[in-house]
Amino acid sequence: MKKMTILFAAFLLIIACDSTKKVTSDSTKAITSAVNKSIVDIDSATVRKHLYTLASDEMEGRKPGTEGIEKAAQYIENEFYRIGLNTYGNLEDYRQRFVYKDIKMFNLIGVLEGKSKKDEIVIISAHYDHLGVKSSGEGDLIYNGANDDASGVTGVLALAEYFKKVGNERTIVFVAFTAEEMGLVGSKHFGEGIDAAKFVAGINLEMIGKVPSFGPNTAWLTGFERSDFGKIVQKNLVGTGYQLFPDPYTNFNLFFRSDNASLARLGVPSHTFSTTQIDSDPDYHQVSDEAETLDIAVITETIKAVAKGTESIINGKDTPTRVVIKE
Ligand SMILES: [Zn+2]
Repeated sequence: MKKMTILFAAFLLIIACDSTKKVTSDSTKAITSAVNKSIVDIDSATVRKHLYTLASDEMEGRKPGTEGIEKAAQYIENEFYRIGLNTYGNLEDYRQRFVYKDIKMFNLIGVLEGKSKKDEIVIISAHYDHLGVKSSGEGDLIYNGANDDASGVTGVLALAEYFKKVGNERTIVFVAFTAEEMGLVGSKHFGEGIDAAKFVAGINLEMIGKVPSFGPNTAWLTGFERSDFGKIVQKNLVGTGYQLFPDPYTNFNLFFRSDNASLARLGVPSHTFSTTQIDSDPDYHQVSDEAETLDIAVITETIKAVAKGTESIINGKDTPTRVVIKE
């Protein structure tokens, strides 16, 4: 398994050298041309590097408390540092440490302070944990969690690099949450320590590596009707060739099944972007959720669309309505 992954990565490296000219399929061709019309510049080679590193066998499925997740954390921290993110609040480094069920765990948080509205915060997040390694069986035993949610963390890192370059009026807090798979544990812990009124929006990324049922150059948003966040994004995407749709899987209750929920429960208009056909995805929570099953162009174009779509919120021109949850 590991050997195959390395060979495949080497192969990808070779074709990546000429990736601007070569396209592997018709859908890739259509996707590549889409959001390029906008000003957003996201480097697909960096996207590939983040994804393949975080989803590699070396990370051993990124289960909280393991050496594998420690390696993933160090990669994310090094990227936060390279990009030039600040630490959050009173923290001395990027780790927000806590103990849950006797396991030492931590969220990873980096900050870009806003130029004119630094007390108004937008959070951009994804979870870096996954399910670990199968205790017994034959063949591949590692839950690599490439789509779930190395793809989302890849988005967080790429957006941090992008906004560092272009600037931001509101403060952006970039968070890689831990222990999402254990029940949104990391995001709940983060939520307990915040003044929710200061958080104007939450952008969560989950499983953004496959073409959705709506076709190429589309994504869907959970809890679309719960605030006007989605409508703001749709407005900003007009003319880009990329479209955002409401979550089509409402009976899956996805709004409450990802880290956006921990902030939404506090009133923050916090939603999850996804591109995956969750009702029929054969790799969801399987050891087959490998980087090779994902489309780098889908991830890259979705990251561009998120940057372009949330631009007016990041820059303080639009403020989404608050979420009200009656449970
Ligand atoms: Zn997930």
